[in-house]
Amino acid sequence: MMCECGKCGSGYVITKNKQSGIYLCRDCFIDSIEKKVIKNIKKENLLEKGDNVLVALSGGKDSVTLLEILNSFRERNIIDICAVSVDEGIANYRQSGINIAINHAKRLGIEHKVVCLKDEYGVSLDEIMGNNNHRGSCTYCGVFRRDIINKTAREMGATKIATGHNLDDETQSIIMNYLEGNIDNLTKLGAKTQSPADKFTVKIKPLREITEHDIGLYVIAKQLEVHFDSCPYAQQSFRMEVSQLINNLENKHPTIKYSILRGYDKVKNAIGDSLNKKFHSHTNCIKCGEPTANKLCRKCTFLKELGVD
Ligand code: SF4
Ligand SMILES: [Zn+2]
Ligand SMILES: [Zn+2]
Repeated sequence: MMCECGKCGSGYVITKNKQSGIYLCRDCFIDSIEKKVIKNIKKENLLEKGDNVLVALSGGKDSVTLLEILNSFRERNIIDICAVSVDEGIANYRQSGINIAINHAKRLGIEHKVVCLKDEYGVSLDEIMGNNNHRGSCTYCGVFRRDIINKTAREMGATKIATGHNLDDETQSIIMNYLEGNIDNLTKLGAKTQSPADKFTVKIKPLREITEHDIGLYVIAKQLEVHFDSCPYAQQSFRMEVSQLINNLENKHPTIKYSILRGYDKVKNAIGDSLNKKFHSHTNCIKCGEPTANKLCRKCTFLKELGVD
């Protein structure tokens, strides 16, 4: 590219910021991403001194970036970090991500657990999908993974759970839940989500304002080892269709993802606690004791349907 870094004047430009139109060199790009995440953490009050943050570490670009940036808080003794990887049992896919997660945790000296769906519930995701089940792979995967992460957070004494959701993930979730009229899930989105049930640890999304594209560039610029393949089940998902829809819109409207996010945040603030209270009243699951809105939680309902409870 025949241009200069808009920050330091270097000729080794690697990208152009879509919002500001400024060209950036490698170092200034890395710096801009880290600053943006730190700014978001402060703005949304995501971390407090003394937090023990459980990072959901799949070994993909998002969670590795998250671990890398949160580690700068750990190095300054602001927080402690532990990590968990969930092995859903997806052949030819998950194991390489898990190995990468193990390497990063070792490199940084972070306590790390790997939990398998098969060990936890007696059935892997591939086995579930091998039978004729009426639910989508991501529905089972999401519910079981959430259950494992919540449990691990309590076991490891975590005060927060950090996930690598990026701007693309978050805007997809917003649009999907709007389209499906799923108000319950819609009210649970945001940079920081806390269920009224004390048993659930606060969840934070420090990368919520960073695009998937920028996270991809960040791991390349920093030469971080990541698992780049996508899940074989991802193609079947409604999320993929919504992702294509938003990316098509972005071609003509470059800031559409930010406006979806800002619009959602405004609506959420305007609605306030009223919907939250209405939708998030809870009891404890009669089977496993986890907080739920119904008699039986989603995990126990699925396990019952699958005949493995
Ligand atoms: S794409 Fe779906 S099935 Fe694959 S890991 Fe993600 S949530 Fe699970
Ligand atoms: Zn520069
Ligand atoms: Zn249950």
